[in-house]
Amino acid sequence: MASCLFCRIAAGEIPCNAVHADDEFLAFRDIAPQAPVHILVIPRRHVASLAATTDADAGMAGRLLGLARRIARDEGLDAGYRCVINTGADGGQSVDHLHLHILGGRALGWPPG
Ligand code: 5GP
Ligand code: ZN
Repeated sequence: MASCLFCRIAAGEIPCNAVHADDEFLAFRDIAPQAPVHILVIPRRHVASLAATTDADAGMAGRLLGLARRIARDEGLDAGYRCVINTGADGGQSVDHLHLHILGGRALGWPPG
């Protein structure tokens, strides 16, 4: 989608600090990190949000989680980490392209704001 920020990053039109790239997903460091490790994992295909997925996306969603697990391991987050998918206005989603945050490298508070 031409107007979508993360589609443009996936297409290479906007630079990012990538940590993983394959045919289906791209993972890159958040521009405003909220923890020592803060990585976003996106499907290359435009999907607006978790709420916009369907049961047909179950395979993609499973592979997304598996990739997050491998990235967290490769980043050395052995003490733990948090995966977050902000969804919709109340969920605090600011970019309307599905993305999973991986946050780690410090003890994270709970509950979130
Ligand atoms: P959301 O608030 O939608 O869950 O997360 C969007 C995330 O994208 C935010 O953490 C924000 O810092 C990050 N972000 C926004 N624009 C850019 C950008 O141009 N490059 C990178 N690497 N991250 C971005
Ligand atoms: Zn998009």
